[in-house]
Amino acid sequence: MMDIRILVTPTLFGLLLVAEHVVPLRQRKVPTRKRLAVNLAVTGLVFVVGGFLVGPAARSTGEWAALRRFGLCHLLRLPGWANTALGVLLMDLTFYYWHMANHKVSLLWRFHNVHHIDPDLDVSTSFRFHFGEIAYSTLFRVVQVLLLGIYPRTYLIYQGVFAWATMFHHSNLRLPIRLERAVNKVLVTPRMHGVHHSAVLGETDSNYSVLLSWWDRLHRTMVLNIRQDAIDIGVPAYQSPADNGLGSLLAMPFVRQRNYWRRAGEKRHGGNACSDVAPTRMLD
Ligand SMILES: [Zn+2]
Repeated sequence: MMDIRILVTPTLFGLLLVAEHVVPLRQRKVPTRKRLAVNLAVTGLVFVVGGFLVGPAARSTGEWAALRRFGLCHLLRLPGWANTALGVLLMDLTFYYWHMANHKVSLLWRFHNVHHIDPDLDVSTSFRFHFGEIAYSTLFRVVQVLLLGIYPRTYLIYQGVFAWATMFHHSNLRLPIRLERAVNKVLVTPRMHGVHHSAVLGETDSNYSVLLSWWDRLHRTMVLNIRQDAIDIGVPAYQSPADNGLGSLLAMPFVRQRNYWRRAGEKRHGGNACSDVAPTRMLD
């Protein structure tokens, strides 16, 4: 599994990077070359923290739980494949709550904001997180693996699927709308996640799912009735090019925070939603 991920993840990254330039979904505000170096540097730190902290902690927790048959998946006597499928499903559901907490808890948002202020959304945004967010997510992963009783092998599969899904839905790849509507019945897609990166608060507070789109449908947090060309990607108070420099991004959670959702001189932010279309109807 390890070998497959090492091969597939960078290959998929490269393929999406090319494909989103050939058939882009949203128009860029900033040339990619200006964002790519910073996004890759921030991503590098994420992989270091993920590889040395989150991964080992989650795997040894999984081993500990398997030895003692601790946690939900160990209590149910399921065949191997069903246990793996259930484990991945429950990891994806519980991550929905974790993602939402990163938006709702102000201390966590200080870090998660670094991911959201990217002025454009594409595959290079996929892992552009503050390394601090990845570091403290270790605690969440340990609790998640322990309570759900996730086998180390299931965790490896989940980790791969999580990374691939993240790259796919962050990409700026224009899929034919009918195809994307069909895929979105099951998976989170680029148009759906584009709404989550909108500069309008009510739109950012939607579409928290990572792999399966079902969790947003289930919790009624799905918002799709927004045209992609109406979406301004980013966070209103953090739109200057200097905000997205490497030093500024790394320091951001530790300095005084601005009023995120208000632009200078602007009182209130209206939404982009097309009100005569159901929120769950995907617009182009
Ligand atoms: Zn988010």
